[in-house]
Amino acid sequence: MLADAAASGYRRGMTSPDTYDAIVLGAGAAGLMCAAVAGQRGRRILLVDHNDAVGAKILISGGGRCNFTNIHTAPDRYLSANPHFAKSALGRYTAADFVALVDRYGIAWHEKTLGQLFCDGSAKQIVAMLRDECAAGGVDYALSSSVGTVDHDGHAYRVALPRRTVTAPKLVIATGGPSIPKLGATGFAYDLARRFGLKVVEPRPALVPLTLGGEEALFATLSGVASEVVASAGKARFREAALFTHRGLSGPAILQVSSYWRPRETIGIDFVPNAAPGWLIEAKRQQPRTTLRRALAAHLPDRLAEALAERIGVSTELANTPDRRLDDAARRLADWRFAPNGSEGFAKAEVTVGGISTADLSSQTLEARRVPGLHAIGEAVDVTGWLGGYNFQWAWASGWAAAQAL
Ligand SMILES: Cc1cc2nc3c(=O)[nH]c(=O)nc-3n(C[C@H](O)[C@H](O)[C@H](O)COP(=O)(O)OP(=O)(O)OC[C@H]3O[C@@H](n4cnc5c(N)ncnc54)[C@H](O)[C@@H]3O)c2cc1C
Repeated sequence: MLADAAASGYRRGMTSPDTYDAIVLGAGAAGLMCAAVAGQRGRRILLVDHNDAVGAKILISGGGRCNFTNIHTAPDRYLSANPHFAKSALGRYTAADFVALVDRYGIAWHEKTLGQLFCDGSAKQIVAMLRDECAAGGVDYALSSSVGTVDHDGHAYRVALPRRTVTAPKLVIATGGPSIPKLGATGFAYDLARRFGLKVVEPRPALVPLTLGGEEALFATLSGVASEVVASAGKARFREAALFTHRGLSGPAILQVSSYWRPRETIGIDFVPNAAPGWLIEAKRQQPRTTLRRALAAHLPDRLAEALAERIGVSTELANTPDRRLDDAARRLADWRFAPNGSEGFAKAEVTVGGISTADLSSQTLEARRVPGLHAIGEAVDVTGWLGGYNFQWAWASGWAAAQAL
């Protein structure tokens, strides 16, 4: 395949089969989009990946149906040391643009919840679409190719691949972040960026289950119980489902706050987001013979109601419980503090917060300010979206924006 790729470029009249207009490192979401768009703009592109197939994360995303974008995409749904950085790319290549592409391929989709768009069929359709787009741009591939040394001689980047060395005046870092190493994820982008003098904002696992220890480990008995909550970390608040696991807490609400959570901080959970102020006093008036556990079971799964009532330590009938205690219980239920002792780490994290510093990149072209021709896109960059299609939209938008400058 490598020989074929090289020969096809040679036939197209290049000076050398190993010389390209741009080399894109990483054939994930961002790299595929960037290569396809630049190829269709007439650039000769080589797309390199150490995996033997492209788009590994796309294939498993969204439970195999790929939550490919979110119609509520907006810069304030991304974490970055520079919250303004993503505006330019997100504004120029929007969720509607990606939907138009998906529609052009006749891929059926639906909105699941909260603006999240999924394929009706399979994530394979998104990968096939991107491959077709790359084919339309005449993109060459070097798969199963781990990247060796990368040099820049002032004019061109030289990239050592297993069987040949390729050169191009432009190089795009699209190798993502270290989340889920078993899918081929690495911290390669950061090493390469540092070698060219770019700063890296400390990478942390994000959209990741949190673990509980000590006293709180006892919640493991609730493993499998889920409930709609409002979870918070600092000022970030998310109303979605939380799930107890044998190691701690998961579910969309927890994954969302995990991106904002820092070790040694607590998170808050409102277990009764639908309850009106004073609801327990009202329950006491309406049903004096009921217990806290039974009052809670009107809002929560039985096992959770039982565990929380037990921890609050109110087992008497509401009629025999002072209002002050009920007010305290209601306050605690509305902001239950958990002190996670960690997270399940990069092995289970859907994304990475942090990455190549936006301070060193142009927000228009994703090109390094002081290293001409070097671009960084996708998850490798310090831009991380919420759960729900936001991360793919950043990958598409940043890939598209960089492609305009190749
Ligand atoms: C389980 C899971 C489900 C997800 N579901 C969704 C979802 O439904 N919606 C959503 O928006 N986001 C989702 N995400 C996040 C999304 O997959 C990523 O944000 C997105 O793939 C990032 O795109 P990228 O191109 O920057 O990186 P990646 O897609 O990770 O691509 C990077 C590529 O670089 C290659 N690579 C890495 N290191 C090297 C190296 N040293 N040499 C050569 N190649 C290398 C990798 O093999 C990979 O192909 C999910 C993530 C996971 C893990």
